Amino acid sequence: QKKLLEVKGLRTYFHTFKGIVKAVDNVSFDIHEGEILGVVGESGGGKSITGFSVIGLIDEPGKIESGEILFQDQDLMKLSESQMNLIRGKEISMVFQDPMTSLNPVYTIGEQLEEMLLLHENLSKQQRRERCIQLLKDVGISNPESRLKNYPHQFSGGMRQRVVIAIALAAKPKLIIADEPTTALDVTIQAQILKLMKQLVKEQGCALMLITHDLAVVSEMADRVNVMYCGKIVESGYTEDIIQEHIHPYTEGLLDSIPDIDQEKERLKTIPGIVPNMFDLPKGCNFSPRCQYCQDICLEKEPELVHVGERHFVSCHFPLRKEAR
Ligand code: SF4
Ligand code: MG
Repeated sequence: QKKLLEVKGLRTYFHTFKGIVKAVDNVSFDIHEGEILGVVGESGGGKSITGFSVIGLIDEPGKIESGEILFQDQDLMKLSESQMNLIRGKEISMVFQDPMTSLNPVYTIGEQLEEMLLLHENLSKQQRRERCIQLLKDVGISNPESRLKNYPHQFSGGMRQRVVIAIALAAKPKLIIADEPTTALDVTIQAQILKLMKQLVKEQGCALMLITHDLAVVSEMADRVNVMYCGKIVESGYTEDIIQEHIHPYTEGLLDSIPDIDQEKERLKTIPGIVPNMFDLPKGCNFSPRCQYCQDICLEKEPELVHVGERHFVSCHFPLRKEAR
């Protein structure tokens, strides 16, 4: 598969009166065409900021300090705001946690879908109407003809998120960045919408960067996973390798905190310790204050992200040995 997106050495910092937060600190990864990449970690790990950086939505006091964001071999950081506007929606679209942030309450769903098509596709009025109806059908909304005339508040939360997905898919983008797209919804609806998203992106050959704190979601959805902690990727690999052959202690901690569905009582363990203060990160490895495998060198030297297997990378001085697990 061809590389669709390649991020190299991305640093996105926030300059606040309390100091600098290195929200994304030297992050490199790629996404191939049609691939689903899960980006997972606790909040504050830099997942969302990575997504916003790719789509060029970093505002003051945030700033991309350095790096390259190559999308179809073109560096998005070198584009003007108006060039970037052409790419947003058409080539790369975004789905947020709260559908109301993407929908405009004063326009009907039909008007909002049609606007996407007007901006990015060259279709007649009749063709646009047919496409709108088809898009609503694709995301599982019944009576699409009459639903087009409804306003966002006339839909339930789950239905609204389906509409947002229809809008995100309208211009047939190459990449969708979805930031906790189902976190606000109840569990049954979450599962339905994730299944639908996976099916639609796979059908269209669209790549998906799925940002979530939920490793269970990632294991269902993603082809590959980036695990982020304190602004850095600590482990990256194929989903199967991350679930079964992970070697970073933080990945192990995240996996241990997934409730065990086989057991009668839900086992909800969290990783001991708290996420360090982003204004005052520890010297050496960021995970050291919480890591049960920490040794002296971890307190001194920051581990580098190294290649350990096919598309498998880890940054740890003492990666877990498979036989030890
Ligand atoms: Fe733990 Fe050391 Fe690895 Fe950091 S580098 S995760 S402290 S073993
Ligand atoms: Mg977030």
